[in-house]
Amino acid sequence: MRTSKVHLYDTTLRDGMQGQGMSLSAAEKVRVVHALDGLGIHLIEAGFPGSNPKDIELFEMLAAEDLDQAAVCAFGMTRRRGVPADEDPGLLALAKCFAPVACLVGKTWALHLEKVTRVSRDENLAMIAESVAFCRGAGKRVIYDAEHFFDGWREDSAYALECVRAAADAGAENVTLCDTNGSSLPHQVADGTSRVLATLGAATSVGIHTHNDAECAVANSIVAVLAGAGLVQGTVNGFGERTGNANLISILPALQLKLGYDCVDPERLVRLTETSHLIAEICNLTPDPDQPYVGRNAFAHKGGLHAAAVSADPHTFEHMEPEAVGNGRAVLISELAGKGSVISRAEGAGIELDDDGARSAIERIKEREHRGYHYEAADASFELLLRREAGSYEPLFRLESFRVVTEKRADGRVETEATIKVWVGGKRYLRTAEGDGPVHALDRALRDAITEQHPEIAEVELTNFKVRILDENHGTGAVTRVLLDSSDGQESWGSIGVSANVIEASWEALVDSLEFAFQPKAVSADR
Ligand SMILES: [Zn+2]
Repeated sequence: MRTSKVHLYDTTLRDGMQGQGMSLSAAEKVRVVHALDGLGIHLIEAGFPGSNPKDIELFEMLAAEDLDQAAVCAFGMTRRRGVPADEDPGLLALAKCFAPVACLVGKTWALHLEKVTRVSRDENLAMIAESVAFCRGAGKRVIYDAEHFFDGWREDSAYALECVRAAADAGAENVTLCDTNGSSLPHQVADGTSRVLATLGAATSVGIHTHNDAECAVANSIVAVLAGAGLVQGTVNGFGERTGNANLISILPALQLKLGYDCVDPERLVRLTETSHLIAEICNLTPDPDQPYVGRNAFAHKGGLHAAAVSADPHTFEHMEPEAVGNGRAVLISELAGKGSVISRAEGAGIELDDDGARSAIERIKEREHRGYHYEAADASFELLLRREAGSYEPLFRLESFRVVTEKRADGRVETEATIKVWVGGKRYLRTAEGDGPVHALDRALRDAITEQHPEIAEVELTNFKVRILDENHGTGAVTRVLLDSSDGQESWGSIGVSANVIEASWEALVDSLEFAFQPKAVSADR
């Protein structure tokens, strides 16, 4: 029954965004899409087309992006009760959307039909069939998500099967069984999945979508695949509402390395750690050091005996080779700090870095990471660091001084003014600007000083500003880390600053962001 190919379907950008405090701009979501595409994820669900301005903007941006191998999916619901499919606004938006794949969610559980949607069982079957048929008629590949499948299955398995059969008969290429409440245990998922496969036959592929409420989301996904499912839906790092979704970052290596399924190219699998950390950083979350497979501690050996045994033979205390997923045996602080990856990043950016340069860059990266820098989401600062090591770095300007004043008035008004003195191309500029806050005022004053000699600076826009307090035990007290995202309308890049002083940290990130815009560019595919 085992299918050798298993497709991975990422829903970080929709279901993952239901998690507490999760919010990404359209530009950040585009970066996530590229990272997932680079990892080899086959299907990337971007959201509801036409449901809110942010998602509309995202689909417009994605329509213009070139992806390596992934297909973009748009998400929607079966038609509303009493509305013909071809008049349902949600389905019309799906039909109009550029995405070649439509994922439709519909009801399977009688409890929901009675208590939530108040739709009869027959009407629900018609809603499923007509909605799938409508999307097929609009030229879309259709994945049908059977919401609450396993709860429905336990209550009335005949009706649950009728629902998935309605979707399959109407042309859905895949029927995904959802453990929406995360209530199921592995034996229940295995049972339901194999019964659906036996009922539908080989023409329709079956997928699995689980939540982690009983801490079985990964195990449930794996048993479903062992039962014959050919598609797994999940999110990066298990992000999602309540206790999260199935974690694709753990499912992928388990299926591929432990069970021998064909999921992604092995050359892509080594990006697993980097992708997990990058997407956490984009979501403004610290990568979890204890996360299986990709955490900093996943292959860390503390005890002297363990460490000695591991150096004699890693199998003694390791469940797999860390390098297969791009992790390391807790020797390197960062996956970016390997000599090979430093040299290949330098080559990618057109920087000539010899062995000595690479070695001293690694020392610098380690020293800075110890102080709280993290370069996963700060590609621009990373590249500038390499340029400085290679000696090919031309500063855009030289700072003489800056001063920022924030004044709070009795009437509640707050005003901020920045004064800056810099040298650009041998000439001194003194500029003052007001802003909505200290960083905004500094940004305006600095741009004003640079613009006479570099008018292109007007095209560079700060698109995102994220501040995190790091209280890791570095012996130096709490420090502030600032991540800035910038764009010139074509490309976007991230920069970082770290300091005990939030304005200094912001300044550092701001300078890197503007400096980067003026560095010679090699075309870098994975930005
Ligand atoms: Zn879900």
